[in-house]
Amino acid sequence: VGCGECPACKVGDENLCDAPRSMGVFQDGGYSDYALIPNSKYLAKLDGVDPDAATSLACSGLTAYTAIKKANQNSPEFIVIVGAGGLGLMGVQIASSITDAKIICVDLDDKKLETAKEMGAHFTVNSKDPETAKKIMSICNDKGADSVVDFVNAPPTAKLDFAILRKRGNLVLVGLFGGSIELSLVTIPLKSIIIQGAYTGNYNDMVELLDLARKGTINPVISKRYSLDDANTALEDLKARKIIGRAVINP
Ligand SMILES: [Zn+2]
Repeated sequence: VGCGECPACKVGDENLCDAPRSMGVFQDGGYSDYALIPNSKYLAKLDGVDPDAATSLACSGLTAYTAIKKANQNSPEFIVIVGAGGLGLMGVQIASSITDAKIICVDLDDKKLETAKEMGAHFTVNSKDPETAKKIMSICNDKGADSVVDFVNAPPTAKLDFAILRKRGNLVLVGLFGGSIELSLVTIPLKSIIIQGAYTGNYNDMVELLDLARKGTINPVISKRYSLDDANTALEDLKARKIIGRAVINP
């Protein structure tokens, strides 16, 4: 939900509005039986998509979709997806359905990497391995990855991103972990790389994504369902990393 007036809103990118009014962030959200939507133009038709699955599409799904679309701009041969949490796993599914790239998924957790393989990752690398960058380089014929989508975006993963990005590579930073790293500035022009951010997505992307879900090309991983009364338990389980993929609170 944007202001409707700024340059982003005028081209339909309300997710990038200068004065955003997103529900659940800048105004009350959906931890309730009913929510008041300011305009019917924000409602997308489910048409057969499971409502529980659709909730995760509207947040992590949409974010992953926009990020993978950006990563696909240079017709990549290899896409590296960093992080196999809810976002990353969705990213793997979307990448395997809308790109022709070979997908390499990186995470610290072997269990999550197994799930990533089931969802379409061609290669997985556990980043606990000190040779992670070397392993990825050798998968990418020692040239590096055409696109890297970092769903974590913390100092260690960002360092890895730059180490494995090939010439003319395309880096899409998505995660909100934060922190900072030292950058070798001269490599940016010499390798002519693109560094871009992706933040949620717009309404049209949401409609495209629902279409993919309807066709069954993507299936959000809903590992747990909670009632509204158990909302706090849901948040505690999330904090304790007990949730694979996404959990849904359905009042
Ligand atoms: Zn706006």
